[in-house]
Amino acid sequence: QHLTYADYIKAHIRTVSDWPQPGVQFRDITPLLQDPKTFRVLVDIFVHRYMDQRVDMVAGLDARGFILGSVVAYELNVGFVPIRKKGKLPFTTIAEQYELEYGSATVEVHADACTPGQRFVVIDDLIATGGTMTAGVKLLRRLGADIVEAGAIVDLPELGGSQVIRDAGIPLFTVCDFA
Ligand code: AMP
Repeated sequence: QHLTYADYIKAHIRTVSDWPQPGVQFRDITPLLQDPKTFRVLVDIFVHRYMDQRVDMVAGLDARGFILGSVVAYELNVGFVPIRKKGKLPFTTIAEQYELEYGSATVEVHADACTPGQRFVVIDDLIATGGTMTAGVKLLRRLGADIVEAGAIVDLPELGGSQVIRDAGIPLFTVCDFA
């Protein structure tokens, strides 16, 4: 019986119950990053996926998307763009607000982060409701980006976010899921 790379990655994600609030099963990727072998396998999954896809730029979502996204960008020999939570970027920004279970959140990107037609991959650690990824992709599309794919390590399919993202016409790749 052989282990797929998805099983291998999934086996190194830690579940922390009731964090940051009761009822949440937090999927913690730090063990995956801490082990040099699993970190390399993780990065290589994304690098091999995009190396022949004419990617011009990788964007990462605040904050865990920065860790994977920046290494993938470096290996693809392309630039990296941070999409940040409101109020963190110093220069002129554009913003997208999206709804959370309680309240709302806003993500921002620098207005000069993209030139029209640039081909972007957008990376985060996990897709839950899909709100964060959808807002990030919307920001880049407003700047004229062509979204090659949205990519994340983990999908939580029961929350429906990955379906919402695909229904919005955004190609999505995830390595493993927790149902
Ligand atoms: P969403 O916008 O609902 O898809 O939430 C995705 C964002 O929230 C990602 O940036 C994740 O890092 C974080 N997140 C949401 N739910 C979880 C969870 N159960 N475990 C770990 N991170 C989560």
